[in-house]
Amino acid sequence: MKLVEELFTIHNYDSYIEAHLQEKSAFIQNMEDYARENHVPIMGSRAIDTFIGILSLQNPKRFLEIGSAIGYSSIRIAEAFPEIEITTIERNTGRYEKAIEYIEASDVSSQIQIIQADALELSIEENLEGPYDALFIDAAKGQYQRFFEKYSPLIKPGGVIYCDNMFMHGMVLQEDQELPRRKRTMIRNLRSFMAWIMPHEDYNATLLPVGDGLLIAIKKE
Ligand code: SAH
Ligand code: MG
Repeated sequence: MKLVEELFTIHNYDSYIEAHLQEKSAFIQNMEDYARENHVPIMGSRAIDTFIGILSLQNPKRFLEIGSAIGYSSIRIAEAFPEIEITTIERNTGRYEKAIEYIEASDVSSQIQIIQADALELSIEENLEGPYDALFIDAAKGQYQRFFEKYSPLIKPGGVIYCDNMFMHGMVLQEDQELPRRKRTMIRNLRSFMAWIMPHEDYNATLLPVGDGLLIAIKKE
């Protein structure tokens, strides 16, 4: 994380932006605290603010998310867009159950449908009804291309595919030998996904230094 911040000096502007933000609800603060205490890798508060700002340019009505964790990003997005319908997929039982708890306690439960499944095994025909305006990939980082290839056909032409954690806390910049052995394949896959999507002729892709790296791939009409 530190490496990325140093490269883009985002931290110089954070406090200035934060000084002008509205106060968070106790409910949202509670989710952030829970995530921090339990090491749940939810999107950073500032990053999701920026993501919501970007989403408001697109104003998606039907939104599909891979990787719900405890439902934080789904709830934040549903709160920001009263007309949005979100379908979100989570494979981990404990996180899925916590997400249900938070979604039910939120004011946006009618906007969010959560499915417990491994997104790579889920039957699309039996569980999902496309098309969607937007897809948000925020699950296993070594599998982004597989998620993309499986779910992008559900996205409308002109729709957008967003991917979080494209920097993987700065690890994409490190030499293979510097990386922990167990992370090497994941990082290699993330780099090759990046190299595959950027020149892809069916998408206009941009990688933004938002949070831990937010990729935006617009599906050409
Ligand atoms: N989008 C959430 C954070 C997601 S963290 C937020 O910002 O609030 C990533 C989640 O993806 C984890 O909870 C993990 O269990 C889940 N995940 C990883 N691989 C998955 C897969 N193949 N299918 C479904 N969920 C997956
Ligand atoms: Mg993430």
